[in-house]
Amino acid sequence: MSHKHAMIILYLICASVVLGLLAGWYFGEDILVIEWMGTLFLNALKMTIIPLIMAAVISGVASLGDVRKLGRPGGLTMLYYMITTFIAVTIGLVAVNVIQPGEGVERSIESVSAGLAVADSAGGQGVVDIVLSMVSPNLVASAVDLQLLPLVFFAVVFGAAVTTIGKQGESVIEFFDSLNGTMMTIVGWIMYFSPLGVFALVATPLGEAGGGPAFIATVSAVGSYVMTVLIGLSVHAVVLFAILVLVGRRGLSYLKDVARALLTAFGTASSSATLPITMECTHEHGLHERSVRFVLPLGSTVNMNGTALYEAVAALFIAQVYGVDLSLSDQIIVALTATMAAIGAAGIPQAGQVTMLIVLSAVGLPAEGIGLLLSVDWFLDRFRTTVNVWGDAVGAAVMNKTMIMHGDNIELKA
Ligand code: ASP
Repeated sequence: MSHKHAMIILYLICASVVLGLLAGWYFGEDILVIEWMGTLFLNALKMTIIPLIMAAVISGVASLGDVRKLGRPGGLTMLYYMITTFIAVTIGLVAVNVIQPGEGVERSIESVSAGLAVADSAGGQGVVDIVLSMVSPNLVASAVDLQLLPLVFFAVVFGAAVTTIGKQGESVIEFFDSLNGTMMTIVGWIMYFSPLGVFALVATPLGEAGGGPAFIATVSAVGSYVMTVLIGLSVHAVVLFAILVLVGRRGLSYLKDVARALLTAFGTASSSATLPITMECTHEHGLHERSVRFVLPLGSTVNMNGTALYEAVAALFIAQVYGVDLSLSDQIIVALTATMAAIGAAGIPQAGQVTMLIVLSAVGLPAEGIGLLLSVDWFLDRFRTTVNVWGDAVGAAVMNKTMIMHGDNIELKA
């Protein structure tokens, strides 16, 4: 896509978000007639994910040329993710301790039973389950369920293995290189429909919530919790920008180029569905192919800064509502488990709400507390997903710079 087209699409998506909010606000449930437009856009994006992620990661890893070279970029990428997730959790914990949003919030019977229903459906996922979920016994089943983590894991192993078989592997690498190029072209085509898709995706949940006034009434019941999460996310987004400038050596032009991905994340509430667009934007910006093909798919599955921050805030909010005083060591446990829970959360709408049970059970908080947050979760999900994708995009820029600095830069054939 040419730069001019990309800019036109960006302005159109910005307008779509504003108009979508207005339409959902005024038309309420009547706006659901356009829901299919959002579903169509979402389906089109999801259609590309599996072939794209397999092709991108395999060709990205194979481009290293030698499996022994996987260590440094892989290790650096994971280190970057751990550091920024830790910063996010810390910002969340400071915000929730300072603002104390749980003070004076009432628990209703409906919220308690709604929370119990979520806890039941989550089926007691724990830290060990997250580790186990990396290796799938059935890749096809994982693909069907859009569980990307085991697919990324397999693609990394496959990409590494193919470099060890010499000449025999060349045609395989070439195939996945071409497949990647083809999929990126399809993503470029889908992007032309993104303004309409984002408009519908923004308008319909607000309409479903009963329109503007009904939504405001719901939010005000837990208003200071919503504010705490939004303040925390904003601060973290600014910190990420500082990292982008100081370490990634890029600035506003990068933000402008990935803005289409950020707005799509806001519309879809899914970092997995947004991944193809994030890859397209960073590719167009001129990041090295390896940062795009290796760092981003890994990031979209394990790096969720916004989710980690939200999980920490939500856990402490529940503690405050239930009058449980969490000591410093309890809060450190919250920080560690929120990091794990964010890694384990799938890049799909409201996945973080389910993995939050890990955090709650680690410090003995009642699972039914989640019920307090359910009514506003779809709304906060959009903001945290945007920060998740921003974290991935900044990560790709940082890794791009770091890998070039270390002279690991090997050109791809394509
Ligand atoms: N919706 C988020 C994402 O896709 C995950 C979550 O926090 O629920 O990144």
